[in-house]
Amino acid sequence: MTDRYAVIGNPVAHSRSPEIHAAFAAATGQDIAYGRLLAPPDGFAAAVARFSSEGGRGLNVTLPFKEEAWRLAATLSGRARRAGAANTLRLDGATVHADNTDGPGLVADLQRIFDAPVAGLHILLLGAGGAARGVVPSLLENGAASILVVNRSAARADALVAAMAPDQAERRVLSAQPAVPAGATFDLVINATAASLGGAAPDTPPGCLGAARLAYDMMYGHGDTPFMARARAEGARQVSDGLGMLVEQAAESFLLWRGVRPPTAAVLEQLRRA
Ligand code: NDP
Repeated sequence: MTDRYAVIGNPVAHSRSPEIHAAFAAATGQDIAYGRLLAPPDGFAAAVARFSSEGGRGLNVTLPFKEEAWRLAATLSGRARRAGAANTLRLDGATVHADNTDGPGLVADLQRIFDAPVAGLHILLLGAGGAARGVVPSLLENGAASILVVNRSAARADALVAAMAPDQAERRVLSAQPAVPAGATFDLVINATAASLGGAAPDTPPGCLGAARLAYDMMYGHGDTPFMARARAEGARQVSDGLGMLVEQAAESFLLWRGVRPPTAAVLEQLRRA
């Protein structure tokens, strides 16, 4: 019997996850169907319960539900527990197991772009939502030299740091500020905000993106996002969208659900061409 999976979010029409999982299924010979599930802002838990009662086996969770997905789960993987947010749910009947594959997905894509580990990098992380929470533990585990979190709502960035760097020594590596300090430079600037969905880029002081070795927008779509356009205009050495991260995090989800990690390079190529 064909097993059913879906990506759940709001909005969800832009998601390329169905294409990616269809390609993974073809490459590995797995019999799955993968669709999109638009949940109303106050109807996430009900939508998950309905999908599960109809025989659904797993969900990828996208904005704005990653923190709610974490709270809904009966069991959590170690990385989901650390992140406080979940992007992957495995549905075992009515029991929900949550994982977070965004962090390993981002790290794999950064290693592909840099052709080097992320250890030692000074990182500016813009945003403090579910995606930002998902990647911080992996960036720390992979030896980031520093991570500065800046978010439109400063309290949310403070809460992220308080949860993930509870003591003073850890805050030398992971810290938050209400705005990016003028003149500060970073090896890597990651846009983990949803600002691109509204056609905007988060605030950064002039030259900040231009000084980076890589300006990385987790968002992906057709052409450059406003963040990527600003980074190019400022002369950043490398600029990337989040399509590679999307493919890598999807491969980790597929592994959790199906027990096999699909190859990713050809799928990323195929998406870039489409
Ligand atoms: P959430 O809704 O959990 O968080 C949204 C974040 O964006 C918050 O920090 C919010 O700030 C900020 N934000 C929203 N609008 C603006 C704006 N106009 N200016 C500045 N900041 C803004 O979403 P997620 O964290 O789940 O997703 C964030 C982005 O990352 C999305 O674009 C998503 O598509 C992308 N993503 C890509 C992935 C990939 O694999 N490539 C994986 C995961 C996410 P505030 O707290 O102030 O509201």
